[in-house]
Amino acid sequence: MNKKLIIAIDGHSSCGKSTLAKDISKHFNYRYIDTGAMYRAVTFYVIENKLYDGKKINEEALKKDLDAGKIAIDFRYNPKLKKSETYLNGKHIEQEIRGIEVSNLVSPVAVIPFVRKKLVDLQRAMGKEGGIVMDGRDIGTNVFPNADLKIFLTADAEVRAKRRYEELKAKGDKVSIEEILKNVKERDYIDSHRETNPLRQAEDAVLINNSNISISEQAEIVTKMIEEKLLEN
Ligand code: C5P
Repeated sequence: MNKKLIIAIDGHSSCGKSTLAKDISKHFNYRYIDTGAMYRAVTFYVIENKLYDGKKINEEALKKDLDAGKIAIDFRYNPKLKKSETYLNGKHIEQEIRGIEVSNLVSPVAVIPFVRKKLVDLQRAMGKEGGIVMDGRDIGTNVFPNADLKIFLTADAEVRAKRRYEELKAKGDKVSIEEILKNVKERDYIDSHRETNPLRQAEDAVLINNSNISISEQAEIVTKMIEEKLLEN
């Protein structure tokens, strides 16, 4: 039987990492882990529990709650929608974590070293058996530096903002394209400049700019790469 691989997909905000990860996890029957959703879930907890006053995150209270196990994140498969969804302390929060409020605070939350440590430990535990596609910002550089295949995905910021705008508009969210572009650029900046595990392309990652390629084309390219890896293993 083929070895069960670890596939790491990193890249800039809103460039279609999760779309690609879902496509290939389905194709190979691998588990998909959206690590961004985990940082978003912690951010949602911060907002819900008023641990952010508009200026500062109450890190002391956040650490206490994290350490006390009060922030339990899990993914559950929704057979109707055929996708895995995010839960926080047993509550379905998939819709809430995708909105602009969480998007605007998630990168500052993801900078906090104790938050990263906690979530990275969880991610390593989830992926240790292999047969996994994990997307995020530091998967190939930090979570799984020995991943079998590393993809670094990007696209022009304007293209990314337009795609996210169409997605949110279809869901009925009232948000402007300018606001989304600002958020995408800000998150890229914070994610690439933070001290702990910043976003960067791993030396052995394959760079794909998908500004001018379709969803199915990008899935095809990566599927071929994985098939080659499987032949090697
Ligand atoms: O992937 P997504 O855009 O949902 O991620 C939301 C945010 O979570 C990112 O902008 C980044 O700040 C943070 N993140 C991270 N490390 C990861 C995944 C996400 O810092 N592995």
